Amino acid sequence: MKEQRIRFNWPHMTGKELNYIAEAHSKGILAGNGPFTKLCQGWLENQTGCDKVLLTHSCTAALEMAALLLDIQPGDEIIMPSYTFVSTANAFVLRGGVPVFVDIREDTLNLDERLIKSAITSRTRVIVPVHYAGIACEMDTIMSIAKSFDLKVVEDSAQGAMASYKGQALGSIGQLGAFSFHETKNVISGEGGALLVNDPDLISRAEIIWEKGTDRSSFNRGEVDKYTWQEVGSSFLPGELMAAFLWAQLEEADRITKKRIAIWHRYHELLEDLEIKGILRRPIAPDGCQYNAHMYYVLLASEIDRQKVLDTFKRNDILSVFHYVPLHSSPAGKRYGRAQGSLAVTIDLSKRLIRLPLWIGLTEQQQLRIVDVLKKAVSIPC
Ligand SMILES: *Cc1c(COP(=O)(O)O)cnc(C)c1O
Repeated sequence: MKEQRIRFNWPHMTGKELNYIAEAHSKGILAGNGPFTKLCQGWLENQTGCDKVLLTHSCTAALEMAALLLDIQPGDEIIMPSYTFVSTANAFVLRGGVPVFVDIREDTLNLDERLIKSAITSRTRVIVPVHYAGIACEMDTIMSIAKSFDLKVVEDSAQGAMASYKGQALGSIGQLGAFSFHETKNVISGEGGALLVNDPDLISRAEIIWEKGTDRSSFNRGEVDKYTWQEVGSSFLPGELMAAFLWAQLEEADRITKKRIAIWHRYHELLEDLEIKGILRRPIAPDGCQYNAHMYYVLLASEIDRQKVLDTFKRNDILSVFHYVPLHSSPAGKRYGRAQGSLAVTIDLSKRLIRLPLWIGLTEQQQLRIVDVLKKAVSIPC
């Protein structure tokens, strides 16, 4: 009998999404910055301790807002990992910024804080730590380097909602932080995101950039009697239908996180003996890094052929994937950025990583089957 196919990801719905969308529909409030947007923003401010949260239509948009807000000029340098999603770099390149790609740590695959100082020049403006897999970067060190060199910190916390570093929510530590609510993340609205503004001096300009460069937010609060064009901005806010959907997810965000952590732990236990045998390495969360189980990945030993493992999964109707092609080696990364040092860890680990299916509803039996297939795959001589 052919076994059932196991998907890589499946969006989890809480059950109230359509009710809240119907509510927005019947109220006739569909544009952005309406009641559901305010509910979501208030909830996120409360959960993260951030001064001001603005919903956006994606994390990419939140990062673009950050680049506008920090007034990035052509030639300004932005320190970031090469091992990340394209949006981390794109947002700054759109303003003429130059990504400076720094290597990652072996344990967390996060920006290696020990290498940041050597990448700083007179043009450096911003450090962008990316909290890979929802496991925090070494933020104390990063914040203190930023302070001593007068740099800003924008946390790419796309994968980091509901995770924390020494008790502080990811995204709430740097001057700015960005969340993603993309379908593939933990808490979702299809496309969606948020900008976390942690520096009170940046809030009023953030609202202006968000609302097409106008002071419409002040006007809505009755602080001015008309709204006008104040500075360069764009339309970064999502409509109310998306915020209504997101509200149904945020209400259940704690439960979603707990369920994902339980699945993550099951993989972690099932894979322990493969780690002991030296066949793979499991994810590592340093002390103080409370993760949100955004993903479960393994790093295969260098003598194992990753493509063979992926092919074995495919033959068994299990979808497993890898990422990222390091940005410094991609066509646009070469054109717009520069690599700092050899990036040896990035190059090595990005070739050895595979992600296992992780979604709410994945059963214990399915996880056992995945681990079983993985065990078979890695025992194939290559
Ligand atoms: C998902 C992701 C993004 C982009 O998020 P969108 O909401 O799809 O724009 C950016 N950075 C990282 C690290 C991501 O994982």
